[in-house]
Amino acid sequence: MAYVIVPELCTKDNLCFEACPEACISPAESDANYAATESLFINPDGCTDCSACVIVCPSDAIYLADDIPAEYNDAIARNKAYFN
Ligand code: SF4
Ligand code: SF4
Repeated sequence: MAYVIVPELCTKDNLCFEACPEACISPAESDANYAATESLFINPDGCTDCSACVIVCPSDAIYLADDIPAEYNDAIARNKAYFN
């Protein structure tokens, strides 16, 4: 299991990026592709389910894969695809 970010709900305020102890949220604001990337994403291979990102997200944009609202189910594949 891993947490995923729902792109439609993310405002790119970077609070989760700063809170993640595993550095598995991308892109960084300093990355060349930051402006063109629709939201931040969580690398499922690095996420330890610590939930530190969930606590700081003011937009309720981060869900465990099993708990994503049905209308946002493609967020799982979109988070994974960003890192492929
Ligand atoms: S649950 Fe923890 S490890 Fe996973 S993305 Fe959030 S802060 Fe990082
Ligand atoms: S804390 Fe929430 S709204 Fe902010 S960048 Fe992360 S997922 Fe997006």
